[in-house]
Amino acid sequence: MLIVDAHQDLAWNMLSFGRDYTQSAQQIRLQEQGTLVALNDDTMLGWPEYQSGQVALIFATLFATPQRFCTGAGDRLCFADASQANRLYWEQADVYERLVGENPTKFQLVRMLSDLEGLLAAWETPPAGDEVPSRSQNGHPVGLVLSMEGAEAVSYPGELEQWWERGLRLIGPAWHGNRFCGGTGEPGPLTSEGFALLEMMAELGFGLDLSHMDEQAVLQALDVYPGQIIASHSNALALLNGITGNRLLSNRVIQGIIERDGMIGIVPFNAFLKAGWKRGDRRDEVSIDPFIAQIDYICQIAGDAAHVGIGSDFDGGFGWQSVPTGIETIADLQKLAP
Ligand SMILES: [Zn+2]
Repeated sequence: MLIVDAHQDLAWNMLSFGRDYTQSAQQIRLQEQGTLVALNDDTMLGWPEYQSGQVALIFATLFATPQRFCTGAGDRLCFADASQANRLYWEQADVYERLVGENPTKFQLVRMLSDLEGLLAAWETPPAGDEVPSRSQNGHPVGLVLSMEGAEAVSYPGELEQWWERGLRLIGPAWHGNRFCGGTGEPGPLTSEGFALLEMMAELGFGLDLSHMDEQAVLQALDVYPGQIIASHSNALALLNGITGNRLLSNRVIQGIIERDGMIGIVPFNAFLKAGWKRGDRRDEVSIDPFIAQIDYICQIAGDAAHVGIGSDFDGGFGWQSVPTGIETIADLQKLAP
């Protein structure tokens, strides 16, 4: 079974901590031992793990942090204004260009349907010999679809043509609130700039990522956006009694996404699986069961399994210390299959 992961923050980790995802998660963890990767936990990712986990396609983000949320040491990718955001996000597009340019057998950008078809054909061909991919260097290239988290980097709607040319295919307008709409912890509707962004996105064919958008903006977007809609990394609020805030999806939003034939990526982050769990708490307080329950919950509402997927959010500010026991690296997502 091939896995598509709708949200991984690769470039942010490569630039912030020098993580080299052509290596194994184990190698990266060993290299970081004794160093202070204060912002993040141990990595969940590495190319050999993509192979053993059959992770064929990743929506790989461009992401930087608005200055007011920067925590200081180690938080290198911060922007105070739109022009700084623009520079930081283009740098991350460059990082992906270099990653695929230097490792064409390991990673490929997926910009068009034909790229995707080529990629899947490669994955359906078994590697040479009888070796399982985890024990072999002869794996398959992992496809990367570029995805933008927080649209502050877009200087004006017309600039989206350049982003499209560069391979960007999915945009999440919000992280926290910004000039486009309300976001996590900062509620609010779509602004006129937000509507203009969506209009240009639709014209060019971008997918719209609702994760992090405030519910008010989400409901407006569900009404007006004619293109493909997903929530790349968002869990269902209803299974988390006691959690407040606007980061998780209400039943109304889940229903709306399903009606628009959208897709919801469930996140195996303990804080989104067990109410009250916070960074630093023991990871073994959470098993894989609530992760599975989240996936099943969307299936039950939809009446099918066509509207749910995985948006791991690895290594987006959390890692091994903050995910359910049994998920030691990305490869363990295959444990969901049975
Ligand atoms: Zn996010």
